[in-house]
Amino acid sequence: MKCQLINITRLLILEPYVYYKTNETEVLFYNYYDYSYLYFDNEDVVRFFNCNQQHGLFVYGLSESDYENENIRKCIDCLIKTNNASCILVNKKNNPVSFSACCNVQSDHEKNLLDVKKQDKILTNLFEVTVYINSLTGDEKQFKDAYKQFPYLYYTHSYEEIDFMFLVNFLQAALDNHTLKKINFVIIDFDKYQYKEQFIDFICDTEIAFELTFFNLNALISFVDCLPNRKIENKNNRVNLILSTRDIKKCDLSLLKSSIISSLVLSFIVENEMDISGSQAYIERYKISNFKFLPYFNGVNMQFFKDFVYYNKKDLLNQKLNITDIYSNIKLNRLDYGKIIILANGDIYTNLNSKKIGNVFNDPLPNVISNAMSSETTWFVNKTEVQPCQDCVYNFLCSPITNYEYVIGRNNLCRDVK
Ligand code: SF4
Repeated sequence: MKCQLINITRLLILEPYVYYKTNETEVLFYNYYDYSYLYFDNEDVVRFFNCNQQHGLFVYGLSESDYENENIRKCIDCLIKTNNASCILVNKKNNPVSFSACCNVQSDHEKNLLDVKKQDKILTNLFEVTVYINSLTGDEKQFKDAYKQFPYLYYTHSYEEIDFMFLVNFLQAALDNHTLKKINFVIIDFDKYQYKEQFIDFICDTEIAFELTFFNLNALISFVDCLPNRKIENKNNRVNLILSTRDIKKCDLSLLKSSIISSLVLSFIVENEMDISGSQAYIERYKISNFKFLPYFNGVNMQFFKDFVYYNKKDLLNQKLNITDIYSNIKLNRLDYGKIIILANGDIYTNLNSKKIGNVFNDPLPNVISNAMSSETTWFVNKTEVQPCQDCVYNFLCSPITNYEYVIGRNNLCRDVK
């Protein structure tokens, strides 16, 4: 696309609450004050915004020929009418500037890498930890890769479990730091875990929010039975029970103590529409109010994903995103950023679909967080830097890359997006 030098007679001034993105063929303006948007795919308009030099951050120079161009004029009128911009004649003495929002948060990757040297600061980048306290042995076929899509049973050749006191020592600096907000414990076999008592003591005494994930009702019941006279209910704590369609046939929720029900969230693994209907019947039978569906990609249910998981343009444009959300989308992956996952053998990841960043038994926590901030992990991978999303005008509105993108092997889980 060729840009031309122009004689400026007018200035187009975009309002600071507008974020816009152009590519070779489109331009999208998003108003994060009233959440409205304007979309143009006219060649003249795209050329104008791609080529025009900015006189002051958000001010665009217009030549007479630009102003008289019917398409550009229509776009300008539209921007003015919707309170997204104003247009004035050039004044030789005083011309306005309009500042777009700028990003000055931890998401500045370069800044973070510099901060790595300051050990006390680096831990402020850690907000959430997920720990698989133990593993299962065996060769389960169903949902064998599910742990790469959502917290699920993790199979190993020989039984592994994490030394709980070692884990607490490893996390101590972050616990003291108060920037660590939450710990998720994935409990695969509670009865077998030899650090049960230390674990129960910790979750009964800690002030930090936690989430416990179980995979069968009996494991949850035996855990609840280990909580004599000690309560874990707190509005910030959650207990998840993950069930497949096969499990719900034999899962009698009436066996659960009512005290745990208030913090219980049921998650149903679904692979097709029949699984959704079966789960809904179960939800109605037990009058469950807290539940969610976990779509499982099994390699052959792509149509189900297209129908139920993929999003479209309307979904993206109907979101109400503020500038923090937008900068989060373009600077980092807000699903992964600030979070680490620790497996039962101590290995640490930012995402189980990416490479290891350390081990609890070999690497101090600041070094692990430093590794998490390297460009090779998932903390900063976002739609503005992967194909084919890089050039999409909707990428600043688009959901972060999830585990499904990694497992399915494509970054654009969207439909009807031009
Ligand atoms: S997934 Fe990629 S291509 Fe699809 S809307 Fe989002 S950014 Fe655009």
